[in-house]
Amino acid sequence: MDISSIVRQQRQFWQQGSPQNVDFRIQQLKLLQQLITENGEAILQALGADLRKPALESYGAEISLVLGEIKYTLQHLHQWVKPQSVSTPLSLLPGSSQIVSQPLGVVLIISPWNYPFQLLIAPLVGAIAAGNCTVLKPSEIAAHTSQLIAELIPKYFRPEYIAVVEGDKTATQALLAEKFDHIFFTGSTAIGKIIMAKAAETLTPVTLELGGKSPCIVDRDIDLEVTARRIVWGKFINAGQTCVAPDYLLVQREIKSALLAKIQDCIQEFYGADPAASDDYCRIINDFHWQRLTGLLRAGRIAIGGQVDQGDRYIAPTVIDQITWDDPVMQEEIFGPILPVLEYETLEEAIEQINTQAPPLALYLFSDDHRHQQQVITQTKSGGVCLNDTILHLASPELPFGGVGSSGLGSYHGKASFTTFSHQKSILTKSRFLDMQFRYPPYTEAKLKLLKFFLG
Ligand code: NAD
Repeated sequence: MDISSIVRQQRQFWQQGSPQNVDFRIQQLKLLQQLITENGEAILQALGADLRKPALESYGAEISLVLGEIKYTLQHLHQWVKPQSVSTPLSLLPGSSQIVSQPLGVVLIISPWNYPFQLLIAPLVGAIAAGNCTVLKPSEIAAHTSQLIAELIPKYFRPEYIAVVEGDKTATQALLAEKFDHIFFTGSTAIGKIIMAKAAETLTPVTLELGGKSPCIVDRDIDLEVTARRIVWGKFINAGQTCVAPDYLLVQREIKSALLAKIQDCIQEFYGADPAASDDYCRIINDFHWQRLTGLLRAGRIAIGGQVDQGDRYIAPTVIDQITWDDPVMQEEIFGPILPVLEYETLEEAIEQINTQAPPLALYLFSDDHRHQQQVITQTKSGGVCLNDTILHLASPELPFGGVGSSGLGSYHGKASFTTFSHQKSILTKSRFLDMQFRYPPYTEAKLKLLKFFLG
């Protein structure tokens, strides 16, 4: 089926009403749950083939996150779909006011390659819950996962309800030529701009889940052991190819060498003396990114790691010291297993450095000092903040996940996904009694006085 026919058929199906029916939405969420549980092994294998993802990382960061979203949505959907009664101002009485969440229609979800299952299917949970038909566009770069999703979805869902369109940017461009009711895009800031410009032509609303350089500040009085472990985990999971990975460290000068020593111990503890031989360490997705990342190793002094192997698309967990903001590694989102380290003397200095950059998707602060925590939260801009850990804030369905400024527009997860894929329709119901005459022409001085009395 060509793209125009898919969208046309989805629109017809949506207009007939089934996707909007709440019982239907619940059935479909359960079907999605079934798709995942029945094909868990195949999903793990596809992720392994694309990124050499270890089963535990695939399960924790891809499968279970989506299953958790479905479970949470099933628990709360009846509450979310209820019209919300709000108060009515005195001047509009007698009457009542409500906000009703209405499905948008036919939506498009475009995803990247780094968590190729989760980043496509977690938004789908919100799209189904909110009562929409969906076209899914997986990333062609994670080819095995893309192919598996394209095989599985039609086995469980009719194409007029959920369809998969595979392909590179040509496929996305063909999709963008169609009129959707919402476009949900996860990917780079550069492509996000292209998507938004194209969507502007038809005034299609967009959610943009983008990237950026997420800083990780380490304050002076902190347990270095736990801090190092959490930084190493957050940075080197998926070989650093994580949108919210700590991009660079900003470390208080006095503790820098002690922290780097702990980070070194941790890398060895997690991945052994030779991480290339570890089953728990991923590979770089393709040659293009391997070349790009190895190019970033040229600046500064490699303090830990630095070994590379092109044939295996391997880059060791690497920490680079003696870096400046002018080095290429600080000029772009790294999106790989390279951790540059900058130092600061006072927290104000660290905040100042962060604020010279575009607002990141995430910001990490390791500090037990409540005053410092508040200072960083209030004086910096970022999509989200995680104190004393990395990445985990995105795992809570209670917390909306998204960027700010160039790291994104809008959010999802939990109720935020439902809201993103819904229109909040405002409804005022007026009583026919007490029809105040003073608002109607012909206008008089007396009517104006009355109007001023009522409206203040
Ligand atoms: P990307 O922007 O290159 O690609 C994303 C999607 O856009 C893919 O499906 C791709 O086929 C499509 N695409 C690529 N070029 C296009 C074009 N010219 N026109 C239309 N569509 C096009 O991103 P990527 O390399 O797959 O992923 C890495 C980026 O995604 C990083 O910047 C990362 O931070 C970001 N990311 C963000 C999140 C988040 O939740 N905010 C999550 C993961 C990744």
